[in-house]
Amino acid sequence: MNAGKEKKKKEKLSLVVPAYNEEEALPIFYREARKVEEQLPQVEMEYLFVDDGSVDGTMDVIRRLHEEDSRVHYVSFSRNFGKEAAIYAGLENAAGDYVAILDADLQDPPALLPEMLRIVTEEGYDCVGSRRVSRKGEPPIRSWFARMFYRIMNRISSADVVDGARDFQLMNRKVVSAILSMKEYNRFSKGIFGWVGFKKKWLEYENIERAAGETKWSFWKLLLYALDGIVAFSTMPLVIASVMGILFCVLAFAAIIFIIIRTLVFGDPTSGWPSMVCIIMLVSGVQLLCIGILGQYMAKTYLETKRRPLYLVEEARLDEDGED
Ligand code: UDP
Ligand code: MG
Repeated sequence: MNAGKEKKKKEKLSLVVPAYNEEEALPIFYREARKVEEQLPQVEMEYLFVDDGSVDGTMDVIRRLHEEDSRVHYVSFSRNFGKEAAIYAGLENAAGDYVAILDADLQDPPALLPEMLRIVTEEGYDCVGSRRVSRKGEPPIRSWFARMFYRIMNRISSADVVDGARDFQLMNRKVVSAILSMKEYNRFSKGIFGWVGFKKKWLEYENIERAAGETKWSFWKLLLYALDGIVAFSTMPLVIASVMGILFCVLAFAAIIFIIIRTLVFGDPTSGWPSMVCIIMLVSGVQLLCIGILGQYMAKTYLETKRRPLYLVEEARLDEDGED
């Protein structure tokens, strides 16, 4: 673009879009985003698609968009590294003064962007997040588990994880740098976004269903993700394990004293095998649970100490000099 010398250089807004098998949704997304762009004459746009190892035609779509529009950049991973890695790669490679993260499926409406940008540039906020106030169109059990997760998470961790918060947000450089400084391998973005702090405003909107394609999250995947989030942002399970240990010791001690006294007073009628078996099973169950909890943290520590890269790039076209 020919940035006029006499004019003050426009600030840049990067749209970071993680995409995994989104060949159907991407063209629709791009069209919608272009429409919104007309309402944003004050900024220069950059589209940064992060192809998370898609196995369909997503890369062809992205390459075509790149050819048609020089402001479309992309990073393509060597395999599927997950949305968290895609977000990190997006933030790392975005050239904008402001960066927005949006899903490719239009569940994060680009129509909110002008309002978000206004809030960050004019109202003095560093970051605008979005949360959906309804979970319309989602299976009820899934919603229930999601609500439980947020309730537990907020009680046991210092990260402020807002119910219904989406990854959809617009932030300034300060926040981007803060997020990039968190280089942990186990990335739980919802926790990270809350943990970094800064002045954040929330926009609320109704849940929107996918424009095309289908969700990448099965119930099982979500459950594991939730557990990962808890392990990443709270050590409360370890505390619970310790407390349980203490509780059982106290109980056992009381029981021993009780049995000794009873034997001394009433003699020793050998009975109570079934109850013994139950107790052994309960206690060994609790032990296994605690070892399991410990193991989770160990495993995470193990992965963290390997310092593996968060993602590997196969192909990329980026905004090299920042002023094309
Ligand atoms: N996504 C990704 N890598 C993955 C899974 C998903 O980059 O391994 C992207 C996906 O292309 C979409 C966004 O993350 O742009 C949200 O995914 P999805 O719509 O499946 O999640 P949901 O909206 O159902 O929570
Ligand atoms: Mg979606």
